[in-house]
Amino acid sequence: MKDRPHSGTPFAEAATIARPTDDDHFMREALAEGRLAADHGDVPIGAAIVRDGAVIARAGNRREVDADPTAHAEVIAIREAAHALGRWRLSDCALYVTVEPCAMCAGAAVLARVALVVFSAPDEKAGAVRSVAELLDASWMNHNPRWRFYPQLRDEVQRLLAEFFATQRKGRTEAD
Ligand SMILES: [Zn+2]
Repeated sequence: MKDRPHSGTPFAEAATIARPTDDDHFMREALAEGRLAADHGDVPIGAAIVRDGAVIARAGNRREVDADPTAHAEVIAIREAAHALGRWRLSDCALYVTVEPCAMCAGAAVLARVALVVFSAPDEKAGAVRSVAELLDASWMNHNPRWRFYPQLRDEVQRLLAEFFATQRKGRTEAD
């Protein structure tokens, strides 16, 4: 997988956003949000927005509980961060999300001018960062967030998802 140096829109200093050494800490914050999502029957994916070394917004997937097809963790966290900062431009922020963003969420990261996207588990079916599309690197986008993969928590993220889907199947079987 490529991790290309970016040449384009100038970014805030990487050190003020999120350093690679902080990935474990911030991805665990996102993972905690994912765990909470499972409590209301939502696929356990979580996200956190980081600025100046601190989490300023966090969210889990709420598609089921809100009956909203756009209520992905990333979109909710981006909205909350913009609200907290009082501006839509998140060019000094990093988005941590447990699973590779889909096309909508990668698009939202571009629209919000997010500086950096970090994820732990690829989504081979719908991931739009590297798996089925490379939206963050698309030359036709007016902004290209940097991104990096943090695979050290991949097993934990995937175990949470697997447990969730196993429980869902079990529930369905018992209801039959
Ligand atoms: Zn999404």
